[in-house]
Amino acid sequence: MNTAVDTLIIGGGPAGLTAASFCAKPSIVLEQCASPSRKLLATGGGRCNLTHEGPVLAMAPLFGEASRFVLPALHAFPPEAICEFFHKRGMQTVVEADGCVFPASQKASDVRDVLIHAAQEARATIQCGVRVERFILEPEKGTGLQRIVSVPTSAGTFSPRWVVLAAGGQSYPELGSDGSGFALARSAGLEVSPPVPALAGLIIPAEWVVALSGLLCEQGAIRIDSKGASKKPQQGPILFTHKGISGPPALALSGEINARLLAEKEVTIRVSFRSDRSVNDWMALFSQWRQKHGNRSFHNLLSGELPRALAVALCRASGLEEVVVARAGKKELQALAMFCAECPLTVTGTEGWGRAMLTRGGVALKELNAQTLAARRISNLTCIGEVVDVDAPCGGYNLTWAFASGFLAAHAINSVDSSSRQ
Ligand SMILES: Cc1cc2nc3c(=O)[nH]c(=O)nc-3n(C[C@H](O)[C@H](O)[C@H](O)COP(=O)(O)OP(=O)(O)OC[C@H]3O[C@@H](n4cnc5c(N)ncnc54)[C@H](O)[C@@H]3O)c2cc1C
Repeated sequence: MNTAVDTLIIGGGPAGLTAASFCAKPSIVLEQCASPSRKLLATGGGRCNLTHEGPVLAMAPLFGEASRFVLPALHAFPPEAICEFFHKRGMQTVVEADGCVFPASQKASDVRDVLIHAAQEARATIQCGVRVERFILEPEKGTGLQRIVSVPTSAGTFSPRWVVLAAGGQSYPELGSDGSGFALARSAGLEVSPPVPALAGLIIPAEWVVALSGLLCEQGAIRIDSKGASKKPQQGPILFTHKGISGPPALALSGEINARLLAEKEVTIRVSFRSDRSVNDWMALFSQWRQKHGNRSFHNLLSGELPRALAVALCRASGLEEVVVARAGKKELQALAMFCAECPLTVTGTEGWGRAMLTRGGVALKELNAQTLAARRISNLTCIGEVVDVDAPCGGYNLTWAFASGFLAAHAINSVDSSSRQ
């Protein structure tokens, strides 16, 4: 069976459904799972942190090396327009104190339902249980470009005018995207930056770290201690796990750590357990304790500043376990101050694809025109969402990119269509 279609969208995730919602002509969305946007249902712990309040220019730098690339999409469909899109369709949103936006119902399923209805309103057909297998390309006459002429799938072949690749990344494969988008991009001759898991917990084999599993340190900060890494730490709660540490700063750095682990065997991070205190601040506090509480043990005093089990572990590591304050030597005090403010930990890996929230890497930015997200060398292919080499920390930014890139791609296709009619 060969089906002719105007726009064929590969992937029924948030990026693909947004593109379908704004396509002026009827589109077909092919989704390999039994239902669209399964991953979306798991976002934000089932609550879906769909965007982040604030100006686009403040958001863009969070996309790191892609910060300039994402700007046209973010300007075209900024957070306030994303919220309005949902409000108009009956889904109210709430903004939390940190700027993260959630559906007022706190249900990710409401976000998915709006996207499905909006796509259907725009006359999209969503075909589930259909896996796209490859692209067949031919040279386009007179342009020097290639063109996708047919798309074989598990349910027959499609002959599209436009192809939108919205197949996601490689993380949490049980929720749909399994890296096949990268294989499709490569089959079209596009360069794909090596995909690595991002937003994943860090594996730290040190026994004392693993022994603290379950402990939360509210005011933490982490930076990578390697050549070329930013000296500015990522701040936020640090969660000890049975494999190492997690929490927003660890998740945010995991993509960069993974990229470094491609070339290095291990990466050292520096962890501050109180982001408001430097080594000198801790030393000043210790000398106050020496004056006022000389007979008390260090771990008892430190338990007033840090979770008790952590305080005990840090005192042990510095040789100050069971030592009263007046008896502490300068070397041990300096070691303790360093462990509290800049604790060196060796990371050997991250939790991997099964538990990573995101993929770093994907269709190389140089392959796409940032103004349209169209492939530079293939005349009828556009790439959007997580399949592109774009990633940001937690906070609703990645879904913002999924929505904004879907919007921009659809508008770019609509405007080529309308200008070719004139
Ligand atoms: C547990 C978890 C929590 C998260 N929480 C948040 C959050 O709160 N806020 C936030 O901003 N981001 C969050 N993210 C990230 C966010 O989910 C992604 O950035 C977003 O889903 C990417 O959208 P997408 O449409 O590009 O890809 P996806 O959502 O992955 O959708 C791609 C779709 O394409 C389909 N597909 C793939 N290959 C093929 C093929 N060959 N043929 C047919 N179909 C195919 C897949 O089945 C999938 O449904 C979270 C991720 C995880 C895993």
